[in-house]
Amino acid sequence: TKMTSQEIRQQFLDFFKSKEHLIVPSAPIVLKDDPTLMFSNSGMTQFKDYFLGYKEPKSSRIADTQKCLRVSGKHNDLDDVGRDTYHHTMFEMLGNWSFGDYFKKEAITWAWELLTEVYKIPKENLYVTIFEGDEKESLERDNEAYDLWKQFISEDRIINGNKKDNFWEMGASGPCGPCSEIHVDLRSAEEKAKVSGLDLVNNDHPQVVEIWNLVFMQFNRKADGTLENLPAKHIDTGMGFERLCMALQQKESNYDTDVFTPLIAKVEELSGKKYTGILTDEKDIAIRVVVDHIRAVSFAIADGQLPSNGGAGYVIRRILRRGISYAYRFLDRKEPFLFELVAVLQNQMGKFFPELEKQGNLVAEVIKSEEESFLKTIENGLLRVEKLIQQTITDGKKVLPSEEVFELYDTYGFPDDLTRIIAEEKGLTIDETGFEAEMTKQKQRSKKDSAAKVYDWVILEEKPETFVGYDQLETETYITRYRKIE
Ligand code: ATP
Ligand code: MG
Ligand code: MG
Ligand code: MG
Repeated sequence: TKMTSQEIRQQFLDFFKSKEHLIVPSAPIVLKDDPTLMFSNSGMTQFKDYFLGYKEPKSSRIADTQKCLRVSGKHNDLDDVGRDTYHHTMFEMLGNWSFGDYFKKEAITWAWELLTEVYKIPKENLYVTIFEGDEKESLERDNEAYDLWKQFISEDRIINGNKKDNFWEMGASGPCGPCSEIHVDLRSAEEKAKVSGLDLVNNDHPQVVEIWNLVFMQFNRKADGTLENLPAKHIDTGMGFERLCMALQQKESNYDTDVFTPLIAKVEELSGKKYTGILTDEKDIAIRVVVDHIRAVSFAIADGQLPSNGGAGYVIRRILRRGISYAYRFLDRKEPFLFELVAVLQNQMGKFFPELEKQGNLVAEVIKSEEESFLKTIENGLLRVEKLIQQTITDGKKVLPSEEVFELYDTYGFPDDLTRIIAEEKGLTIDETGFEAEMTKQKQRSKKDSAAKVYDWVILEEKPETFVGYDQLETETYITRYRKIE
């Protein structure tokens, strides 16, 4: 019998508990007091200060699962979501940390033990990468990691990786370091015989995917771009939970795991459309987009970020509108319905994430009102796109002008990627450079009015609550409460 996602998550935590790690809850997905980042985009975000030596950790060994959102800044996967089977906006990152405690040897040994002995992934399905070094920054090849890996895996499966893939950075500045990544090849024996997995690592193959990144944290990137040594060496690992579930449940897509199937079943029920799992099928893309986005938006709201007109709230509003637009166009959903998925999500995740359990009704209410107001303008937006396309064709041109595309996006909330798809259907493209420039201008504007609130709800309190952890240790978790303005 295959493990459920709940069991997979628990085994990860239990394993690291057995290696003397303190198990802590996820930090909120929304960051309130970090000027460099809007959302948690990796497990290490909440521990940044420990690496920099500004704060003392409760334990020098910690493990958890962290809610992450990659929709802005250095890590932005939004355009891939729905189009591939393993990038989400919101995902869980399982991680284990050493704060000045163990380093490469234990990190590598335990990762291997967990994957091959506990989870029993066949060794012949795994590949690992190491940092090849970088001349420009005078960084050396990670021979230490290489020598450790070769005790476990044959040398032809250890791949040199460049700075882009094997030097991890959270953002433009902050803690960073070389890393080793573990990739899993989930193809059939027949497919493997045709093309070596070696050629597919880091090559966007949907069945040869990166699952775990072990970062050997030893530098801090300063604001001026230079690297300095951290006060001590640390371990920071991040494993994509949904991808791990795909590997262990032997599925071809994250969306076929039990993390997503209850949500997909609900969309099928509400829309009367069947999910067939085809990569290029518009209806299937739309279903993937919807079940992905509802998670991102629900967790963000539960953690205190309401959709709004500026800053992080604007990012959340756009994600929601992207979901609504896809459902409108490809699932023929002209009435609010995304909000009905919240109960499914709550049922599925509420036990592990109490913030969702506590805020579920409010989350659904906010989403429903967003849907109602956006649905009023979307028809108008679609008509405008069609008109713009007609006009461009009449003018004998092939490129949609950026100002109009941007206006659609900004004023009508019409997602640019949807405009792009509709334009492409008619053999047209968008003036991408011009659009980028408009976006940059908008970002500068939105910084100024990020305080704008258009909501009926205000945050009543945000306070740390004592939380009896998964291993009965008391830790703190943040619960946001809202109050409705009458
Ligand atoms: P990829 O190359 O697939 O985009 P990454 O190198 O950007 O992944 P890391 O920053 O190394 O990812 O994050 C650690 C782990 O988190 C990855 O190995 C992967 O399993 C998982 N992960 C990263 N981005 C996503 C995402 N958008 N959706 C789901 N899982 C993700
Ligand atoms: Mg990535
Ligand atoms: Mg990668
Ligand atoms: Mg990576």
